[in-house]
Amino acid sequence: MAGIVEPIMGEDKKRVCYFFDSDIGNYHYGPGHPMKPTRIRMCHSLVMNYGLYKQMEIFRAKPATKREMSQFHTDEYVDFLYRINPDNESQFNKEQGKYNVGDDCPIFDGLFEYCSISAGGSMEGAARLSRDKCDIAVNWAGGLHHAKKAEASGFCYVNDIVLGILELLRYHQRVLYVDIDVHHGDGVEEAFYTTDRVMTCSFHKYGEFFPGTGDINDIGINKGKGYAINIPLRDGISDESYKSIFRPVMKRIIEWYQPGAIVLQCGSDSLAGDRLGSFNLSMRGHAACVQYIKSFNLPLLMLGGGGYTVKSVSRTWAYETGLAAGVELGGQIPNNEYYEYYGPDYELDVKPSNMTDHNRREYLDKIREQVFEKLRDKPAAPSVQIHSVPKLAHDDEDENENEDNEDKDIRRPMRLWDKEKQHEASLSDSEDEGLGGRRHRQSHREASDKASSKRRRSKSPPLGSGPGSAAAHPTAAAPASAVPVASTSGAAASAGVVPGSLTGTLPVVSSNAPPASMDIKRWAAGVEGGVESSGGGSKAASPSPYPAPADGGDVEMTDVSGGPKPAQPEQTAPEAGPQGMEVETAVEPQNEVEEAAPEPGKPAIASDVGPDGA
Ligand SMILES: [Zn+2]
Repeated sequence: MAGIVEPIMGEDKKRVCYFFDSDIGNYHYGPGHPMKPTRIRMCHSLVMNYGLYKQMEIFRAKPATKREMSQFHTDEYVDFLYRINPDNESQFNKEQGKYNVGDDCPIFDGLFEYCSISAGGSMEGAARLSRDKCDIAVNWAGGLHHAKKAEASGFCYVNDIVLGILELLRYHQRVLYVDIDVHHGDGVEEAFYTTDRVMTCSFHKYGEFFPGTGDINDIGINKGKGYAINIPLRDGISDESYKSIFRPVMKRIIEWYQPGAIVLQCGSDSLAGDRLGSFNLSMRGHAACVQYIKSFNLPLLMLGGGGYTVKSVSRTWAYETGLAAGVELGGQIPNNEYYEYYGPDYELDVKPSNMTDHNRREYLDKIREQVFEKLRDKPAAPSVQIHSVPKLAHDDEDENENEDNEDKDIRRPMRLWDKEKQHEASLSDSEDEGLGGRRHRQSHREASDKASSKRRRSKSPPLGSGPGSAAAHPTAAAPASAVPVASTSGAAASAGVVPGSLTGTLPVVSSNAPPASMDIKRWAAGVEGGVESSGGGSKAASPSPYPAPADGGDVEMTDVSGGPKPAQPEQTAPEAGPQGMEVETAVEPQNEVEEAAPEPGKPAIASDVGPDGA
């Protein structure tokens, strides 16, 4: 049975670009790890079988190159990700500690390609938005908000969001980042903590929870002061409570900041029943945030993020893809290759549980008023000069010279921070998550919690403002001396320094530049080879409504030790139907010139990972 969709009345049809690379489902963090890239493919299967390909354009982005990644990350960190693999990791012991790779962020086969796919989708989505090729770009493989400039964190290695925002900054004076993942969007906040050109706003659980940052008093420093907003929430937040804080805060921020584009991180670990999260949002409550942000009619980049109960993730992101395209998905799950995972009711909805909402009305009212108060303190809508000549900014500064001085004990793995909870059978993922023997209990360490929340702004040597910073912020009002921020009292913070922030390297706004994410070769190849809708050339379509099930649609969820077969790179989408669904392979994913060509066409498979088995 095909999925039913109903058009949403009363809104303009948006041009939606949706990015999907079928290889994404083949990467595996290892047995028992809660992050399961297969969820992206499950979502895609719903998207296709609800017929959403009729409503939008589907792309397979060119994977990001090392050079592109190092627009944010340090060259040496990117090179490390490129070189490390399960076979040679013993040669990189020192680096693994330095870059926080190995525990939450394991080394698995194809790690670099996985990061490339995630980042490529976000960068190309941003590029297409900037070129007015679409109104909304969707990349569920993106949203990896914890990754730092030279450090992996919380299952994230490369920060596709920062890279996407950098792309948008080439065309937009101001970009708003909104994060509804249950965890604080620390990597993105940190990257833009000292600039007013990106405003970050994160709604997250705060208190004894990974990553420990995101206090309401953390609001940015220097020119960025007042342009980071944190909404700390408690366990069990309901749809109603969330809406009561989300809408007024977002409305005020958008009206006040007047962003040129919005990036929405749709982390779905804020859903009820998430394996790591502790909120109680239903699918519809979560999606209401997407719909609300969409209603402002600004260029919108929608990204994934957390989400560890995979069948809830796929449902919700499929539903939100529908909303982006202006349709509402019907309540019955259509036939698809993962159909059995949606039993016993085969309904689309992710329902809330009866858990207690610890966010009292008075608490939320107080948070809201505090945020409004902070906004009143600042001039709205700072602007920057428009430059006619684009410049590719590469940041070669190494922020990690003092890394060895850090107290490694305050690094707490995400899986140790976040409690794993058991929920109603209908929401439990225990059968497909390989939980046996890996159930972590909550590890509360109040002192570490506090220490960790300060770590970010107290670790590294001062970063001088880069040479481009003055030009990038000519009109921002905040005097550089008005620095200290209440809860970030480390020495570096009081000196106005945020390690890993990008102030000196932001792109200048240009009205005529090709997107930074594309080097010239790629840009030309794109135009010639079919990036443009009208260019023809590389549209690919398979004849089946199921994405090439030959051997690609069978990723095992239940037995990671057995290992799924590697999928052949399959067509992105089925059925180039009369409604004009177009599948466009922007650029072939392999043979990345001199840079990113590790083992072309050889995705990781689970059986290669974790020889210990599950
Ligand atoms: Zn999360």
